[in-house]
Amino acid sequence: MWVQGEAENHGTTFSNNTSVIGGHLEGNCMNVYISESKNLRNWDGVSPLQPELTLIPKLVVNSAGLSAPALAKRFIGLDNVFIPPAYYARGCYFSLANTKVAPFKHLIYPIPEDGGLGVHVTLDLDGQIKFGPDVEWIDGIDDTLSFLNRFDYSVNANRAERFYPEIRKYYPDLRDGSLQPSYAGIRPKLSGPRQSPIDFVIQGDDTHGVPGLVNLFGIESPGLTSSMAIAEYVAAKFLR
Ligand SMILES: Cc1cc2nc3c(=O)[nH]c(=O)nc-3n(C[C@H](O)[C@H](O)[C@H](O)COP(=O)(O)OP(=O)(O)OC[C@H]3O[C@@H](n4cnc5c(N)ncnc54)[C@H](O)[C@@H]3O)c2cc1C
Repeated sequence: MWVQGEAENHGTTFSNNTSVIGGHLEGNCMNVYISESKNLRNWDGVSPLQPELTLIPKLVVNSAGLSAPALAKRFIGLDNVFIPPAYYARGCYFSLANTKVAPFKHLIYPIPEDGGLGVHVTLDLDGQIKFGPDVEWIDGIDDTLSFLNRFDYSVNANRAERFYPEIRKYYPDLRDGSLQPSYAGIRPKLSGPRQSPIDFVIQGDDTHGVPGLVNLFGIESPGLTSSMAIAEYVAAKFLR
């Protein structure tokens, strides 16, 4: 909240329930088409979306997370060869049920696994322990589903079976039946299963040649921790 307050004090306007639905390059500026998000709810994915507003900012930063590659494809004037293929990996967390005394006082990170950091231990601010996230590659997401953020964030309770042996490598006292589904997140990845990991892509006109547009692709963990540094880098390099 303090970041939002700080930004507003410096003239930022936040617009909730508002979607960027596309754009086109005109002169040296990317014109972005804006619509109320509720207009996308029943969209068939085919018919043209009508903007309610067109903005002409000095700099557009496409930081749409999971939707960033699909949104970039809707910018007329940006060559698709610069938009990397998108992969998605769900990460589920399980928490410890019926635990009166937390068995850990600090975070525990095992050796990373393919696609993620491994099932590690996190302590919430209220002391609640959770294990995760695992890595579950998601197939069948096309550009429309990605653009509309139609992802399944449910936690399949059966995945707990894979957690027990992983957690017992560093917590052998874990009791059967003590894990309960918590929540899931989805990673916006630029490499698929068994491929080498790809770093964040921060892509400006020096790469794609479109003035006034920066794309942020593959901002998975630790993207939150890095967010201020990414913002400073983008502003210093591309805001002229
Ligand atoms: C399971 C899991 C655990 C993680 N743990 C950590 C961690 O411990 N530490 C850490 O640093 N990072 C962690 N991350 C990564 C972190 O969550 C991301 O790196 C970070 O959220 C990326 O920020 P972002 O702004 O690029 O994207 P997002 O946070 O995804 O934000 C994108 C925003 O764009 C909006 N949007 C999408 N499309 C449009 C559109 N067309 N128009 C307007 N708005 C749009 C979305 O609604 C959303 O609000 C974790 C991620 C996962 C999945």
